[in-house]
Amino acid sequence: MAPHLQWHCIAGCGACCRLDPAQREDALEALNPEQRQAYLALVGADGWCIHYDTGGRRCRVYSERPDFCRVSNLVSLFAPELHGAGAVEPSPETQPPEHGGGAGDAPAGWTEADHALAIACCTQQIRSEYGGRGRVMRRFQRAIRRP
Ligand code: SF4
Ligand code: SF4
Repeated sequence: MAPHLQWHCIAGCGACCRLDPAQREDALEALNPEQRQAYLALVGADGWCIHYDTGGRRCRVYSERPDFCRVSNLVSLFAPELHGAGAVEPSPETQPPEHGGGAGDAPAGWTEADHALAIACCTQQIRSEYGGRGRVMRRFQRAIRRP
């Protein structure tokens, strides 16, 4: 049987830092009121996060980025039924340097369904920012085939 795809964040992407609320209704709905307020405060006039360096494709506040920026928290935000609400809270040691232009791997212990959810989210974001057949999508597709 073919090994399942493994989510990896790729460097030089940052598609998920485009926070335009018109494009991210699902994300906003998943946040609590406090997180939603913090999210909306980050949206720049061009729809990108105010902390995102669009030239360098990287987060300028990477080590202090909000919780909702961490893909490692994505499962508990978007699919709590997979593990029970809030159950997937990786320790700081296992949090990968993902999102915001960092490259990183999934936390240890992610299931196939967790990987599939993260891959689906990234694919949607990358397609919407860079196109479904562009270089970023091709790099991402190669990355998720890595063990
Ligand atoms: S690969 Fe995914 S998590 Fe990483 S920057 Fe791109 S969209 Fe964000
Ligand atoms: S990772 Fe950084 S640049 Fe991206 S949305 Fe979060 S704070 Fe903004």
